[in-house]
Amino acid sequence: MDRPSHFRSVQPGYRWDGVPYLPYKDDGSAPFKDISRQVLFSDPALGCEWRYFEMAAGGYSTLERHEHAHAVMILRGTGLAIVDGEVKPVQTHDLVSIPAWTWHQFRATDNAPLGFMCMVNTLRDKPALPSAEEREAMRENPDVAAFLDGRLLVTTP
Ligand code: MN
Repeated sequence: MDRPSHFRSVQPGYRWDGVPYLPYKDDGSAPFKDISRQVLFSDPALGCEWRYFEMAAGGYSTLERHEHAHAVMILRGTGLAIVDGEVKPVQTHDLVSIPAWTWHQFRATDNAPLGFMCMVNTLRDKPALPSAEEREAMRENPDVAAFLDGRLLVTTP
């Protein structure tokens, strides 16, 4: 019997057999900090991909929006998320829906990582970043302004 296995075992540190670990390179095109990506499932038969993102303590994802949606489950740690002007603490196993064209960003707590599973369409548009005007409009909400400034960081006991 010589056929590929359909099983890939978990490894220490939230890694998986045969899954490349891809730290995001800061090339100046988008603001983010200390985040890595692993594509767990990418199969044309599915029409979607399932990825695992992880931010180191104090790290954050890019503030962005796009036509495609995300389905997110927090897998590790605690942090804060913003979706469409709503700022909420998130913890392991929380679910976050990110509809089309909503601004979203994740931040890890300042002393622990934040990891989440993210489902997304295989065929998707590129994320858009906020213009200076859009950023100012978002900041009219004081919670959002505090989040964007990193003033809402939660510390895990
Ligand atoms: Mn996104």
